Amino acid sequence: MSVLPEPLERLILALERLPGVGPKTASRLAFYLLKAPTELSDDLAKALKVVKSMTAFCKTCFNITDFGREECVICTDNNRDRSILCVVEDSMDVLALEKTAGFMGIYHVLQGALSPIEGIGPDDITIFELEERVKKDQIVEIIVATNPSMEGDATALYIRQRLEKYPVKLTRLARGLPVGGDLEYADQSTLLRALSGRQEL
Ligand SMILES: [Zn+2]
Repeated sequence: MSVLPEPLERLILALERLPGVGPKTASRLAFYLLKAPTELSDDLAKALKVVKSMTAFCKTCFNITDFGREECVICTDNNRDRSILCVVEDSMDVLALEKTAGFMGIYHVLQGALSPIEGIGPDDITIFELEERVKKDQIVEIIVATNPSMEGDATALYIRQRLEKYPVKLTRLARGLPVGGDLEYADQSTLLRALSGRQEL
């Protein structure tokens, strides 16, 4: 039997299910919330309650957007260069690249990467939709900015195979990003360098 009151125990167990949060961190966060002003847990609870129902995916690029919007703010921005498209694994990568202010094209969010071990195949990510965009839009260059990991590399190669029949230039972010790491954790200057030093895929 746990020595902790049941509600606290339940919060710790829920927090533990989050990525990168072990039992120790979960306990620390739960005790912190318990001691902090009620306002913090109220704000958290309110945000958690609506985060899924009030957001949606852009029907064009699959980036995260507000619920009720068809397209995200980037797709609807007339100042973006629609001839250059950057393919990333998830919306966090869009955020990272936008922070560099070094990319003015548009995006395509795969919502994952190919992983035979986890059973994630081409139909589980938005590769079909990417191919449809290449077919009907005037895209000149596609920068494949999947993570520098085994899955990210495999996804990049698959995209090359799938798109090589189209008259579009395929490039990959330059090396120099921490291998095995996530794009979203790279610092801005590293990302900018990887972007400007991109090479043919
Ligand atoms: Zn979009």
